[in-house]
Amino acid sequence: NFEPSNTLKELPEQFFAKLVQKVQKLKNEGHDIINLGQGNPDLPTPPHIVAELQTAATQPNFHKYSPFRGYGFLKEAICAYYKREYNVELDPNSEVAVLFGAKSGLVEISRCILNPGDTVLVPDPGYPDYWSGIALAQGKMAFMPLLKENHFLPDYTKLDNDILKKSKLMFLNYPNNPTAATATTDFFDKTVEIARKHHICVVHDFAYGSIGYDGVKPPSFLQSEGAKDVGVEMYTLSKTYNMAGWRVAFAVGNPSVIEHLNLLQDHIHCSLFGGIQKAAAEALTGDQRSAVELRRTYESRRDTFIKHLNTIGWKVESPKGSFFCWLPVPKEYTSEEFADILLEKAHVMTAPGNGFGKFGEGFLRVGLLDTEERLVEAVRRIEKLGIFTY
Ligand code: PLP
Repeated sequence: NFEPSNTLKELPEQFFAKLVQKVQKLKNEGHDIINLGQGNPDLPTPPHIVAELQTAATQPNFHKYSPFRGYGFLKEAICAYYKREYNVELDPNSEVAVLFGAKSGLVEISRCILNPGDTVLVPDPGYPDYWSGIALAQGKMAFMPLLKENHFLPDYTKLDNDILKKSKLMFLNYPNNPTAATATTDFFDKTVEIARKHHICVVHDFAYGSIGYDGVKPPSFLQSEGAKDVGVEMYTLSKTYNMAGWRVAFAVGNPSVIEHLNLLQDHIHCSLFGGIQKAAAEALTGDQRSAVELRRTYESRRDTFIKHLNTIGWKVESPKGSFFCWLPVPKEYTSEEFADILLEKAHVMTAPGNGFGKFGEGFLRVGLLDTEERLVEAVRRIEKLGIFTY
């Protein structure tokens, strides 16, 4: 046996691995588990995108190594997408980096910017992969609490000035995983101001950019004046087009950060399979009806689920974006205890909020990732536990 490196030992525990094991055990025992705990989109990739891959797969030029840093046609498509959706102009040569999924970009960005001991501002609760990247780069985390009373946005006026001064990087993510909150352009304007003042590189994780409700389109960070001077936005096709297994995403924005990301990637891999790049370009610039339909599907699931929860006496607010609901746990239980009860007694899998950070305690994350019938069935099973009163 070989010892892992010290850096590897520093990696945070994979909180959800434990949960998945528990679910597997119950499934093996023959139980029907409604899985609302993981963030895996349940619907298939639209057929016109799959067809593009099928055609591209027969073209021998795509069987070779793809060009380093991606095909020009994909970078052009990414720019066209940002222009169409957000009216943001991007230079395909200097302001776009093609990524193997946003997860890899979000981990790699820390290695691009940090030296050991550097401080990073991290949302709490937040997406755990930020922590992994920071650990691999031997950075230090300074948590920004996301509190309900501040609409789950960090309150910059409450951050310690010394911490702001020494921070090199800041992660943000709206629509937010896990809280389902959205941000406004006003908030991003403030972010640009603070980042400029303290010379902090902002990484805005826009994984759920296409999923906003009640007629509100979540803004891109790059729509804020000066955003490109202070940071980048990471966008994935995983959620917008149900392409989670395809591993295709990109970073856009500040040219120096894009160059660092590209440089690091040059040393780790070539680019994605050309056929996937072709399909990704088709997704971004082709027929958008399926993406619109998908957003409507989540909105309808949200409405049904929230209505039923409120009917059984679990008083919850409607999420504003993402495909998650962030539900308050009854006071008598910790998040983990309550998630265990729902899993073991109702066979409904949810994600306990403390897995996303200290300030996630007191909440559960529930994904709208099954049909409306199954979501209603989940509520019916929870109702039977008799925990909530009408
Ligand atoms: N960022 C957030 C907030 C996510 O929830 C996820 C996936 O669950 C990702 C990034 C990862 O995206 P990708 O599938 O492109 O790796």
